[in-house]
This record gives sequence, C-alpha cells and structure tokens, in this order.
Amino acid sequence: MADKALGAATLTIDLGALAANWRLLRTRVGAAECAAVLKADAYGTGAARAGPALAAAGCKTFFVAQVEEALDLRALLGPRPDILVLNGAPRGTEMQLAEAGLVPVLNSFEDIVAWSGCAAGHRVAVQFDTGMTRLGLPEDEVKRLIATDGLLASLDVAYWLSHLACAEDVDNPMNAEQRAVFVAALQSLPSAPASLANSSGIFLGSDFHFDLVRPGVALYGGNPTPGHDNPMTPVVRLEAPIIQFHHVDSPKSVGYGAAHRIKRPSRIATIPVGYADGYLRALGGRGYGFIGDVRVPVIGRVSMDLITLDVSDVPPADVRIGTAVTLLGGPVDIDALAARADTISYELLTSLGPRYRRVYVGDAAQNSPGQMGSYHRRLV
Ligand SMILES: *Cc1c(COP(=O)(O)O)cnc(C)c1O
Repeated sequence: MADKALGAATLTIDLGALAANWRLLRTRVGAAECAAVLKADAYGTGAARAGPALAAAGCKTFFVAQVEEALDLRALLGPRPDILVLNGAPRGTEMQLAEAGLVPVLNSFEDIVAWSGCAAGHRVAVQFDTGMTRLGLPEDEVKRLIATDGLLASLDVAYWLSHLACAEDVDNPMNAEQRAVFVAALQSLPSAPASLANSSGIFLGSDFHFDLVRPGVALYGGNPTPGHDNPMTPVVRLEAPIIQFHHVDSPKSVGYGAAHRIKRPSRIATIPVGYADGYLRALGGRGYGFIGDVRVPVIGRVSMDLITLDVSDVPPADVRIGTAVTLLGGPVDIDALAARADTISYELLTSLGPRYRRVYVGDAAQNSPGQMGSYHRRLV
C-alpha cells in the first residue's frame, strides 16, 4: 500500500491527554473506581493504542460492546484487567467468553437462564432497565430472577449495572427516577458492586457514582457537561493539506449541485477530506477549519473525498499548496462542530475514517497531557 503520508490528512491522537482525562475523572469520583469504555475502537481513536495507554495510567476495568472487541482487547491487555461486554453473550459464545476471562453483561432473564445452563459460576454483570427500554432486565424480570429457585445462587455477579438516558441534562427528573429504580433493585438482590454513571453521570454528583463509573466520550475529549465549559482536554486533532487553489474574480459556483455561489473575489482551497473519511456531509456550508488563527468556512457540499474552503481572509503569504488546515481539535471544538452537523461528538469521533494517517503522541506514563493539549491551551 502507498504511504499514507503522501497528501493525506493527519489524525493526531494524544494519549497523554487521554490518560489525563481518565485521571481527572478518577479524582472526581472519590472512592469509586473509574473504568473506561473502549467500544467502537475506543470511539474511533484506536483501542489498540488507547487501551494500553489507559491501563498504564492505572485503569483496571474496561467496557466494550461486542465479544470480538473484548477478545481483541484481552489479547492486548493480558489476563489481568476486567473486560465487560455490554451487549452480552450471544448464545453459543458463553464458554468462549468465560474461558477468555471476559465478563458478559447479561441483559434479560433469558440471558441469565442461558448463562446459568452452560457457564454457571463464571463471573457476570447483570444490567437492569431503569428507563432506557434498550438493554437490561425490566422490573418484572428482576422479580422473576429473585423468585426462580437456585438461579441467583448459580450466578457469580461481579457488578449490577444500569444506564442513564438523560445524564447530560442535569435538570432532567429522569436521572433521579432511574436512580431510585436502580437502588430499589439493588436492595432486593444480594450485594455486589454497582455501576450507573457514564461520562455525564459522573457530573451529576456522588449520589450517581456508586462503586464504579463508566466514562466513554469524556475520555476522548467530548464535553460531558453540555452548556458548560468542557472540563476535558481534547484528544483528537485532524489536519489536512491544501491540494489546490482557485482564485475566483467573477461570479462562479462551487461543488456538487452548484450549491454555493461566489459573489466576491475569493480564494478557494481544496483539501483531501470528505464524507468517506467521516467529515459528515451535513457540514457542507456549515463546517469550518482554521489556518493559523483565521477561521476558514467550508463552502459548497462535502464530496466523498474532498471539501472546499473559502480562504480569502487568510493573508496570501500564509497559504500555499501543502498548508495545513485544522479541521478538528485545537480551535475547532468537537462539540461545536458536531452541533453544526446536527449531531453529537460521539458520532464525529466514531466516524473518523480509515484513510487518515494516524499519529499517536503523548506518553500515558507521563503526568501532563502531550503536545496537543498544550497546543489547545495556547490557542483557546
Ligand atoms: C456507551 C456506554 C457508556 C459510556 O457512555 P459515554 O456517554 O460515552 O460516557 C457507559 N455505559 C453504557 C451502558 C454504554 O452503552
């Protein structure tokens, strides 16, 4: 395969910032344990690098969504850390999971019966549905679990879990309602460590921390407190070189559908990032980048492999073929950009494409964030 450095966009992932984010969350939860959610390839940042970086920082418990992800992570991290599989154990995979020391999250009465039938005695987590209506035992299944002779006794429960639907909305009454349903379930069951909070849940206060918290997006720099300053350090930075200029001094259109009309003398720069790379098509006419400290708007539609930016406001001496445009990170806040695409930072992160040249910086063992974190602080 050709060298991706040739004209490709560069995605820089700061493992020092990732570790610093984990440590910050850990200090916020007092005596509770801070796990890390690494599903979807560590929210697009690369679980193969993010997992070991977090383990080196001291994280001992990891969550993924799927069995495959869990097996990959086990191979990377060795036998010691707890690795939990949020989507549970598909029928037939029970013994494979148990033998790999993976902990499935059992999400229904049927899941528990199946596990008990072939892998009884191996550690599990059990999730309650407290309001998401997505995964987990609803209240009547919790009652059935308690009422079924021998079933509870056959389980080695490592954690009782539930998940908040509205944690990023501090004032939403559903947070307290879900917590109350969770506590009622815990009180009716044998004692085991309990876990309710995702990233935003951590910021709802210590009542929501229980024994273990499960942050995902905040580790990767997403804002767990929307509407307030982001306490996290950016982890991801995307930069792409200008590959062509157009000097336009008569009315013209730009891109597919001739969706943008140029009305003033302009300089248009083309860069090799498109929706196939996860630069969402919804950002056509709405996204923006930075060259130095000058904001450059995306104009026209996002193509599969390209976008066009109006760089007329950048001093001509500062833009050449090869000049880097920052598309994410630094001055381009991930939550703000996501909002412009009518989405959330989670989707921008997990859409980051395979064509980028990926560069990992920062050292998980060091105590301060790596280069990119300090770069961000310089600019903001
Ligand atoms: C994805 C997920 C998390 C992490 O959520 P963030 O909002 O990214 O912190 C925690 N728990 C469960 C059950 C999840 O599915």
